[in-house]
Amino acid sequence: MARINKNYDRLAAGYLFPEIARRTNLYLEKNPGTEVLRLGIGDTTEPIVSSVLDGLHHGVDQLGSVDTYSGYGPSEGLLSLRQALSDLHAESGLSIEPSEFFVSDGAKSDSANIQGIFSEDCIVAVQDPAYPVYVDSNVIAGRAGNSTGEGYEGLVYMPCTAENDFFPDLPSEKVDLIYLCSPNNPTGAVATKEQLKSFVDYANEHKAVIFFDSAYASFITDPNLPRSIFEIEGADSCSIEFNSFSKTAGFTGVRLAWTIVPKACRTEDSEPGKLHSLWTRRQNTFFNGASNVVQAGGIAALSPEGRRQTDEQVSFYLENARIINDGLKSMGITTYGGGNAPYVWLKSPGGLTSWELFDKLLNECKVVGTPGSGFGPAGEGFFRLSAFGHRDNVVRAVDSIKENLVI
Ligand SMILES: *Cc1c(COP(=O)(O)O)cnc(C)c1O
Repeated sequence: MARINKNYDRLAAGYLFPEIARRTNLYLEKNPGTEVLRLGIGDTTEPIVSSVLDGLHHGVDQLGSVDTYSGYGPSEGLLSLRQALSDLHAESGLSIEPSEFFVSDGAKSDSANIQGIFSEDCIVAVQDPAYPVYVDSNVIAGRAGNSTGEGYEGLVYMPCTAENDFFPDLPSEKVDLIYLCSPNNPTGAVATKEQLKSFVDYANEHKAVIFFDSAYASFITDPNLPRSIFEIEGADSCSIEFNSFSKTAGFTGVRLAWTIVPKACRTEDSEPGKLHSLWTRRQNTFFNGASNVVQAGGIAALSPEGRRQTDEQVSFYLENARIINDGLKSMGITTYGGGNAPYVWLKSPGGLTSWELFDKLLNECKVVGTPGSGFGPAGEGFFRLSAFGHRDNVVRAVDSIKENLVI
């Protein structure tokens, strides 16, 4: 008799984006022909830059000749790409071996899968609000218990509020696995070196492991803010980092990412090197490597010209964020984030709940955003606007909010 994994039934979510779509479609049915301006989804919109397209074309062409054809590559990624990633980090003074980089098809899958190499009884701490996959992957793995409607009983929530600058205080109880995301989705907050140091010291003291999601690192323009947790002393013995070409190079549909598992990283019951070999084993067992065509695109994105062009595109999105921020601030709305991140996080004016503001923005301004409460209990009363969008769309959305929102 086959039986299902009942933990799937414990998932409270799957609610946020479908509910946004439901309310938007209902509005469109009632107001046919109206154009809604979407600042909701965290997906890139600008075309891939020319040097990276050349790399992708080159990857395709290599498959068309018997001399350069390749089939399965290493599950961990092409050495040339891992070397390029190692060189990139060396520029910030980091010494990470190519063999410590694991190339994959996405930071989402890696950040969902990583918990699988840890014991079932590890206590998990997440930032609140957070990117949903950290919570959901642990619900499915059986670490989270039941949803109470205010989160899961088995998880430790670390609230990120205006009072702590949207970076959590250290957990008061002992936790084993800690998810941190900086620049943060959804709040746009970027952790300082001092803030990360407090978690690294905690993790080393308690033999905990930090999962650090730096998918938006390339949006950091302030040179004093860390782009990698490995800029913090002591991080290599307690941290695993995820990064991606998705937001930096417009690869959300192309799919390419990397995870750094330092050989120095350990657990309470393992020596350095063990986690690295477990992740190697996991990837070799469940994954046959990222597409070779796509990896050729990744190598091009890390070339000097690729970086110049992708940096320009990141600046374009940051300018969108500035336009959103300035527009809202000019109306007296309190905003956070946006300076070193593609998300603006705003406090709902007039004490509105996240969903009340959603409905007002949709009905009064024809703008679709993302209710903060969808990212965790502490997101209630906040709202996320995304800077991923065509300039004209962003400008019209901000103008419409300024003209039409009644607060
Ligand atoms: C977009 C995003 C990613 C990227 O995931 P991919 O699977 O590489 O596209 C990772 N983490 C966060 C927080 C994100 O918002």
